[in-house]
Amino acid sequence: MGRVISISNQKGGVGKSTTAINLAACLAERKKKVLVIDADPQGNTTTGFGIDKTTLSASVYQVLIGECEAEKAIIPLYQRGLFLMAADVNLAGAEIELLDFEDKESLLKENIVNIKDKYDFVLIDCPPSLNILTINALTAADTVMIPLQCEFYALEGLAQILHTIELIQESLNPELEIDGVVFTMYDTRNNLSLQVVKNVMEYFKDTDQYIYKSIIPKNVRLAEAPSYGIPINQYAPKSSGAVGYGRLADEVIKKEEKRNGGKKNRTKRGTRA
Ligand code: ATP
Ligand code: MG
Repeated sequence: MGRVISISNQKGGVGKSTTAINLAACLAERKKKVLVIDADPQGNTTTGFGIDKTTLSASVYQVLIGECEAEKAIIPLYQRGLFLMAADVNLAGAEIELLDFEDKESLLKENIVNIKDKYDFVLIDCPPSLNILTINALTAADTVMIPLQCEFYALEGLAQILHTIELIQESLNPELEIDGVVFTMYDTRNNLSLQVVKNVMEYFKDTDQYIYKSIIPKNVRLAEAPSYGIPINQYAPKSSGAVGYGRLADEVIKKEEKRNGGKKNRTKRGTRA
């Protein structure tokens, strides 16, 4: 069973797309087969992988409205084991267009149900709002990963996304698990970063919510890589950003193996979707 992880936080600019791109690339580097679904009309993940979103023959949009089968909208990327279902500008209109669909909240889930098990991980990059695309991502997901920027308003964003997840659990996806919080843009020179980490740990102390031990540092290489259309493990493999996402990938894999009772990788890597 491929694990579908929705990378969500209603707050903008917290590192969702950076996490989708670089976690996926680091998982693929570790011989996992990974599909990234760019569910954000901004298409930052699509561009970050070097794909021109203006010339796509098929995208998440076509899949959602039933114009294209999911399998046909998947692009194999340059890195072995890494695949993308890209976003284009049409996705921005999806909110209104999908209103006419009876099952508008579960279109993504229905469309990937037959392909997700071909991958070890399916990562969905969400937009920074609670719109129909985020709801589709959370309905399709097994787990949610919440990137949290180490800054003053982080806790506010966390409370909001936890509330959203609760609503989805109560209605559309009772099985949805909170996979964990990932701290992003951690600045060792800044006391505030440490304070945010401490506050979130305090916030979660009486719950069984998970906090990833791998903290993503603030690293200019992570901000530069998308303009070259390559992930950090190729752009600057020795940078602190690459090390951070590498550790996160290890932790995600370990967690999955633990869930599966120590069973290793199930899919054959390298076979095209
Ligand atoms: P949106 O909500 O708009 O989709 P997002 O949550 O996807 O944003 P990103 O686009 O990943 O956030 O990151 C926001 C900005 O911060 C980008 O310019 C990105 O390059 C930069 N950035 C993300 N993570 C880091 C990091 N660890 N170090 C330095 N810069 C980073
Ligand atoms: Mg984004």
